[in-house]
Amino acid sequence: MRASHLFTKTQKQVPADETAKNAQLLIQAGFIHKEMAGVYAYLPLGLRVIERIKAIVREEMDAIGGQELIMTALQRKELWQTTDRWDDEKVDVWFKSQLKNGAEVGFGWSHEEQITSMMKNYIASYRDLPVYVYQFQTKLRNELRSKSGIMRGREFVMKDMYSYTTDEEKHQVFYDATIAAYMRVFQRVGLGDDTYVTVASGGPFTDKFSHEFQTLSEAGEDIIYLHKDKGIAINEEDLTDENLKRIGVEKVDLTKHKAAEVGNIFSFGGSKSEELGLFFTDENGQEKPVILGSYGIGITRLMGVIVEQFCDEKGIVWPESVAPMDVYLVRLSDEEKVVRAADELYERLTQENISVLYDDRDERAGKKFADADLIGLPHRIVVSNKTVSAGKHEYRHRTATAANQLSVEEIIKQLVEA
Ligand code: ATP
Ligand code: MG
Repeated sequence: MRASHLFTKTQKQVPADETAKNAQLLIQAGFIHKEMAGVYAYLPLGLRVIERIKAIVREEMDAIGGQELIMTALQRKELWQTTDRWDDEKVDVWFKSQLKNGAEVGFGWSHEEQITSMMKNYIASYRDLPVYVYQFQTKLRNELRSKSGIMRGREFVMKDMYSYTTDEEKHQVFYDATIAAYMRVFQRVGLGDDTYVTVASGGPFTDKFSHEFQTLSEAGEDIIYLHKDKGIAINEEDLTDENLKRIGVEKVDLTKHKAAEVGNIFSFGGSKSEELGLFFTDENGQEKPVILGSYGIGITRLMGVIVEQFCDEKGIVWPESVAPMDVYLVRLSDEEKVVRAADELYERLTQENISVLYDDRDERAGKKFADADLIGLPHRIVVSNKTVSAGKHEYRHRTATAANQLSVEEIIKQLVEA
């Protein structure tokens, strides 16, 4: 992509109405546009990051047997009344509207009711199970607060997966496989070292714990107590003597941290299927409720947490795995031989499947370098009069302080190995 074609522009001033660093940097660098508090549009660079995160999540969900689908945002009131989650007193984040005929509808803040009800069309016998389905869906939630930038949106992208199994034992196997898959996701996006499986209350449906995935972050809205050696944590909300005993840790061994919840998984047992009428016939002809599990990852929150963790005073420092492009190619002159050399390098990198943001704009060098740092692509290459004459261009990693002079072949080698 040529920077001269990119319609977004960077901005120098920090947006005055944003307190969260993730939103400040993403707006300044042109990744997102703020529509209103908690509601953001994803611009070309931002969309690429989302798509890369989704691709990683998709690979890991497919690897444990997930099938992707997409449900609807508009939901039926009757469905949510069945499980007593329609009233605003029960669920305080609903956005609701009406059809022309006056019928009420809700905007999906979650989808387990809808998918579970739909599954009545496809699940009747033990032979139809297990089923694992997931989607990337824009969730709408009328959140009370929205001061965390894209980490808490009123409109945000979630990956939610649902498991349907015949019994608790099979459910547990998949539940554990999901924990492992989630940890692989967090590892791959660069948050592995800071993300902990955290026990939280299991909700009204089960006496078991639910599990959250919490990334240590000053920008997070949660407090967790972490057992560093065992690598497990407990949410402050669930810190009772009884719960500590159940997970086998002592309070003195725990340290308190601010954290951001990047994922959350639940076991519903057969309760929700019973409410919604999703039953199957087992090998003995007996009718039983299908066992349900629900598994969420906040895709846009994850992007926000990544920005919070990986930035410096100059801008964002994207991990390789989710960066919108690999290389920021700076051309420092309009002289014909420099243009030719930079164009050739751009073509060459593209052929090697290395994605490039080619700064071919008519801008000062200082502006181009500042934008390169703000946008935060992992690799920067400078092509100038000097580098063309020397036959070696300037290469620097976003995190490095000094640049290296490398030939085109050396640059390719470096990047292909990266
Ligand atoms: P929180 O306690 O932060 O409100 P939640 O318990 O409501 O989260 P879930 O309903 O379990 O979250 O949603 C699954 C995941 O979706 C969360 O772990 C989080 O990563 C993400 N998420 C939830 N609410 C938001 C939001 N308002 N904006 C962005 N991501 C969100
Ligand atoms: Mg919430």
